[in-house]
Amino acid sequence: MKHKKFGSTGHDVSVIGQGTWYLDRGDRRAAVAALRRGLDLGMTHIDTAEMYGDAELVIAEAIAGRRDETYLVSKVLPSNASRRGTIAACERSLARLKTDRLDCYLLHWRGSFSFSETVDAFEQLVKAGKIRSWGVSNFDADDLDELLDVAGEGKMACNQVFYHLQERAIEHAVIPWCAKHNVAVVAYSPFGHNDFPDQRSKGGAVLQTIAKRHGALVRQIALAFLARDPRVFPIPKASNAEHAAENAAAGDLVLSADDIAALESGFPRGPKPRSLPML
Ligand code: NAP
Repeated sequence: MKHKKFGSTGHDVSVIGQGTWYLDRGDRRAAVAALRRGLDLGMTHIDTAEMYGDAELVIAEAIAGRRDETYLVSKVLPSNASRRGTIAACERSLARLKTDRLDCYLLHWRGSFSFSETVDAFEQLVKAGKIRSWGVSNFDADDLDELLDVAGEGKMACNQVFYHLQERAIEHAVIPWCAKHNVAVVAYSPFGHNDFPDQRSKGGAVLQTIAKRHGALVRQIALAFLARDPRVFPIPKASNAEHAAENAAAGDLVLSADDIAALESGFPRGPKPRSLPML
């Protein structure tokens, strides 16, 4: 598994990480086994959120005894993101995850509390050693500008956004903004959540041709495409160990310039939408 610098944190983080939304809904033992297999294969970045029900409890089980090898990220809900609410939400997540610190803590999406309240809370948590860094999720370039005015350069570690082959809107303004300010881009729902390209579609045919050339699976090609940018970290969610292993193997795939050009034309970026797409 390759690693890349995670924005201004300077930490080396696995190119492919592990999502956990809905991981608490199915077979719990299989979910724990999937996360552990992912860790064994180097997918050490694990993403969760207070919103994801019992996913934090599933993670606690999976990372027991392995906390130091995990890059653990959770998120505060916007409705809790006041100065005191953020700190209380973080404490709850730490307790559920059975850990004493998060590697990164994110504001899940922009809500009604002022950025200064949330940023103050994040900075207090950093000082207390409860989080190592903080970031945001679902922020468009104009939101990032506003946050930068409040927080200053070098403070936000990442922006976690919706990004997959059929949804490339962040390439217009968000990725360039993050590149300019050394902010990592975490690609959520990298398989489109439940909307992976149909193999009979034009793009699906391109994916299959490239997968065949690499002796790889189409989903591995999809992950490698998103991770082609040195700043982007896809976080697929897998509920079984076999899927986790397949996803981890994508971390070593390198696409050629021709592969990338073919995928870019098979899955056109499209015009910039008025607002940032999100799930
Ligand atoms: P996703 O990762 O795009 O897709 C998950 C689906 O792909 C599941 O049905 C999964 O099946 C399947 N899958 C995974 N690996 C596979 C493989 N190797 N072969 C075949 N199928 C495979 O969807 P997501 O869960 O929405 O996104 C990933 C993570 O991003 C989330 O879990 C969450 O951590 C994060 N997220 C963040 C936000 C935000 O607002 N910040 C929003 C959405 C998601 P199985 O489960 O059966 O393996």
